[in-house]
Amino acid sequence: MKTISVLGSTGSIGTQTLEVARNNKDIKVAALAAGSSVDKLEAQIREFRPSLAVLWDEKKAEELKERVKDLDVRVAFGMDGLIEAATVPGAEIVVTAVVGMIGIRPTIAAIEAGKDIALANKETLVTAGHIIIPLAKEKGVRILPVDSEHSAIFQSLNGERMNHIDKILLTASGGPFRGRTRDQMKDIRLEDALKHPNWVMGHKITIDSSTMVNKGLEVMEARWLFDVDIDRIQVVVQPQSVIHSMVQFDDGAVIAQLGTPDMKLPIQYALYYPERRYLPGSRLDFAALGSITFEDPDPVNFPGLALAMQAGKRGGSLPTVFNAANERAVAMFLKKEIGYLQITEIIEAAMKAHRVVEDPDVDQILQAERETYAFIEANCRS
Ligand code: MG
Repeated sequence: MKTISVLGSTGSIGTQTLEVARNNKDIKVAALAAGSSVDKLEAQIREFRPSLAVLWDEKKAEELKERVKDLDVRVAFGMDGLIEAATVPGAEIVVTAVVGMIGIRPTIAAIEAGKDIALANKETLVTAGHIIIPLAKEKGVRILPVDSEHSAIFQSLNGERMNHIDKILLTASGGPFRGRTRDQMKDIRLEDALKHPNWVMGHKITIDSSTMVNKGLEVMEARWLFDVDIDRIQVVVQPQSVIHSMVQFDDGAVIAQLGTPDMKLPIQYALYYPERRYLPGSRLDFAALGSITFEDPDPVNFPGLALAMQAGKRGGSLPTVFNAANERAVAMFLKKEIGYLQITEIIEAAMKAHRVVEDPDVDQILQAERETYAFIEANCRS
């Protein structure tokens, strides 16, 4: 029996995590935390019977409390609630699938409480990797990647020595607008950007994939997870999303992990690592696939990746600014307040305006986030 806590349980990764729990029948759910989806969380509580349920929204938490008063579950809310869910007694693994920088404090709390982390919240390592990784080492806690690329790298490193990594080959689908020039992308509508060719994901990450910002965040994440310099991480566009990433070693050998695009594989691998379990679903049919193709990313028409590389190399508070600016710009695009190309323009402007703080602590990271939001509010509204 494994006991888990799921932060962000009603989102895409959260619901798929619970699907893995449902399929395997030996996972106990100690806590579930979500944003404001009362209906979905209530259904999850009735199925998985956690002892603690959390909603970010206080009013919605009150409503939930009323609805589940027939059950033996405590309901909490806000950051205190999230931290409680992250440190809930009995849970061995905390799945961090909340979106955004609200994931930082609960992740730190979970590590301090000695929980292994199944990491699906990119922002945590991108903005606070310099705090999280040393802390996890100190506490003897494992950070198990849930992102498909990082799981692929993790699987490719099985039994290998980290000091023999020559480079990490991080694969990217290139998104729905691969091959287009910026001029050809200026009239892109929200509906077009929400169509990812291979993966079904939440809205924010789907937009991030289309701009290549997601790949940039993944480069920064990989740098911390696998302790390699950004210069040793190469993005390779592989449009069929069959190769989930690869590692090249000192002797020139390249080891890759392949499979059909299904997030339940990396989720299940993280939850049971190092054990592999049966996972229902389709399998790769190489003859039917015919070919797998490769190309270099296009940093001119997709500046999101280049800006991320720049932020990652500079370090300090700059990755936070990159991330926060993107978060806000994507939110504005989702509300149809800005055009598609403005997303990366806003990131660039925010990065230029920022004075980097070296080795920021959590308060300084959150401060840089607030300053970035304020900068965008003051300068990037038409
Ligand atoms: Mg990914």
